[in-house]
Amino acid sequence: MTNLLLTLCPPLPVVCPPLAMASLATYVRTRGYSVSLYDLNTRMAASASRVGLPGSFELGFLPRGVALREAWDDPYLDVWLPPRLHRLLQHFEAEIVSLIQELHRVQPAVVGFSIYRHNLVCTLEIARRIRAVSDRITLILGGPFLPGEFPIEMLDREVVDAFVACEGEQRLEHILARASTGGREAVRELTATNLILEQAPFQDLDKIPPLRYDGLDLSFYEPGKAHLITSRGCPHRCSFCTDRHYHGPFRSHSINNVLAQIQYLTEELGRTNLVIYDLTFNANPKRLAALCQGILDRGFQVSWDALVRVNTATTAELLTLMKKAGCHALMIGLESGSDTVLRRMNKGFTVAEARHMLRDAKRARIETRINLIVGFPGEEESHHLETIHFLETERSSLDAICVLSTYHLMPNSEVWHSRETLGLLPAKTHTFAWEGKDGNTLAVRLDRCEHIVGACMKLGIRIDNSSLGLIRNALEKEPSTS
Ligand code: SF4
Repeated sequence: MTNLLLTLCPPLPVVCPPLAMASLATYVRTRGYSVSLYDLNTRMAASASRVGLPGSFELGFLPRGVALREAWDDPYLDVWLPPRLHRLLQHFEAEIVSLIQELHRVQPAVVGFSIYRHNLVCTLEIARRIRAVSDRITLILGGPFLPGEFPIEMLDREVVDAFVACEGEQRLEHILARASTGGREAVRELTATNLILEQAPFQDLDKIPPLRYDGLDLSFYEPGKAHLITSRGCPHRCSFCTDRHYHGPFRSHSINNVLAQIQYLTEELGRTNLVIYDLTFNANPKRLAALCQGILDRGFQVSWDALVRVNTATTAELLTLMKKAGCHALMIGLESGSDTVLRRMNKGFTVAEARHMLRDAKRARIETRINLIVGFPGEEESHHLETIHFLETERSSLDAICVLSTYHLMPNSEVWHSRETLGLLPAKTHTFAWEGKDGNTLAVRLDRCEHIVGACMKLGIRIDNSSLGLIRNALEKEPSTS
């Protein structure tokens, strides 16, 4: 009998093997537990790709001309919610039955689901299907939700036995220990008064050895690509950000741990195209330099992209070293071309410093992509025009906008806590639909976004991702939102 089967339900990205699943599995294996991995999300996406265009429209859950596989894309994510979810899942009955057959085969004591905002409802549906065939298996959910914000009322206590908030490795170990001695009842005793279990953030990340994907069918993912994580948390305090709440204070793996991880990915799996998943890869520039030197010394032939922030310690020399060590592209959290807005966001850098870093990165032949947030509270038309001016003047040092998004008023961010002082009125429907008493409405923000899209088209700046499609889709269904 296996101790644990970890799975993922749609809709989640399918490019790289899932990091969180690998981290949980790698850690509990070192503690002596046996683990099976079964990525239902990727299997369903592969099945959807085989269907192609016809079918989805006739089944009534996607617009005409939209292929079933596009249900994983931003504008259509709400098909994974009732009332369309049930019709959609009928399309994937074979994959759901395969998961249940896998459970019969490996007989896990515990099944763990990784959940995120978009896959929560589908996960609960799959959990119900499993509970219908087994009242022996302990079913647990875990993911980046703070305990106070998790929609606990959605959980059916007869189906789900525990929910692990945020980092889960040690809590999972604890649950497995109880399940292996006292079965499902022992886990339910643990959560009798509170279904939500928390753990303090891991202080010594190296207690998690270099991640492995043993037992996962890697043929479902894009060849050659993988995520790499070298640190957790973030030392900064941008006022719009919620990530740092979910991921805790900044902690990092040792250089040796990261190099061992790269060795596994490149030499054992042949995955040399890496996306570094750290919130702020250059949070500690000295460590970043040591890691780049380690990659060069070990002769790893890798290409990598990473998310960074603007800071003056990321010098031209460091960027050159990063390029030599395989850096292909940097996603830079710029957010605005206005110093006034950057101050309000508490970004901790100036537009001049951002220009400097972009130009140094470009000179080092690194692809530069920036994130932009449009209509942050207090952004006036003149500030928006400063962002347009930034794009015009940095055209030669800027390759793309990685994410173009209107500002979302997110619970648990610092802006959220100051919303009354700032004169912000949250919307009941969507985080993007808030209004400012100063006239900062969704319509204003969408106009500014369109202005940026037009400017980028004129300047030849690529836009990789934008939240416009998702918002327009929501507005079509609920025009009153605007
Ligand atoms: S936006 Fe990035 S740099 Fe700022 S607090 Fe969040 S994770 Fe850290």
